[in-house]
Amino acid sequence: MCQRDPIQCIIPPYITERLLRSDDAEVRARAEANITAAANMRAARARGRAAPSLMAPRAPAGGKHRLVYDANKCDKLPGVLVRSEGQGPVADPAVNEAFDHAGATYDFYDAVFKRNSLDGDGMTLVGTVHLVEPDGRGRFVPLDNAFWDGRQMAYGDGDGVIFQRFTRSLDVVGHELTHGVQSFTSNLEYEGQSGALNEHFADVFGVLVRQWKNGEKADRADWLIGKEVLVGAPTRRGVRDMEHPGTAFMGDRYLGTDPQPEHMSKLYEGQSDNGGVHINSGIPNRAFVLAAKTLGGNAWDVTGRIWYDTMLRLPKRCEFHECAELCVQTASALGADAARAVSAAWANVGVAAKVYA
Ligand SMILES: [Zn+2]
Repeated sequence: MCQRDPIQCIIPPYITERLLRSDDAEVRARAEANITAAANMRAARARGRAAPSLMAPRAPAGGKHRLVYDANKCDKLPGVLVRSEGQGPVADPAVNEAFDHAGATYDFYDAVFKRNSLDGDGMTLVGTVHLVEPDGRGRFVPLDNAFWDGRQMAYGDGDGVIFQRFTRSLDVVGHELTHGVQSFTSNLEYEGQSGALNEHFADVFGVLVRQWKNGEKADRADWLIGKEVLVGAPTRRGVRDMEHPGTAFMGDRYLGTDPQPEHMSKLYEGQSDNGGVHINSGIPNRAFVLAAKTLGGNAWDVTGRIWYDTMLRLPKRCEFHECAELCVQTASALGADAARAVSAAWANVGVAAKVYA
């Protein structure tokens, strides 16, 4: 799922593939439907392919502009328009969550980085809720995922066994919309270490949107991605843990154990997941948290600024060590202490980045 063409999903292939091997026939059927749906979405998008900037509707007034659609229990995007900018809440919580979380993400980029939407030019934020998919047996089942398809967000309602509706999590929405920001900036190739960095920056700004919205300082925040989209169980805390990669879920009946490494010595070098884009992102994720905790205060103020400026400067194909070098260079503009903290954070996860004094 989500392997070749970058329809960028929050739930990675290693989770969906694990569900395919479940001892629960219903869970297996849903996983198959998820994989088929992703292939169909990619094919549909390939037929209508165009540059994101050509497809993106503009905000009429040039500022925040959101449109939320309801797929109406169908597998076609975008669906029926149910809430537009300026309209108040509706009865459906999924619609309001998609609307509010897209708004918080817009406000975060605007307030912290003076960025006007994903493209920097007032692009309308489009989201579709209640997306379903055919399960091959004549039924439609809720999508067990949320994704950015290059033009818009789409959210499923989850199976109620492992996943809940995907609009529940602000950091998931921030993550997916950051894929949009990246498509207009560094546009990191979605494969190998470049792809893991693409996932990494999406996690960084996803978690920062939440911390900013809730006023959480770096030393008090948790660094979990997607805890609200999981049905609660003692064996699962989130989809990823940026501070302690590899521990978000452990020994779970359905999910197994989180495969993310926290150090270069455990870099995944296989072919799955586009060369481990959702796996190896654990390494830079931990570097970011270490830097944020060392630099202290609000993670979005200093560390977030360093990472944002770095993201804008990265080449399309980029390895971890090149990203680390650029991060340290960017931090140097803020002083020697910042450069040393960022360099030490990367060194801690096994990525060398020199400080040029
Ligand atoms: Zn992603």
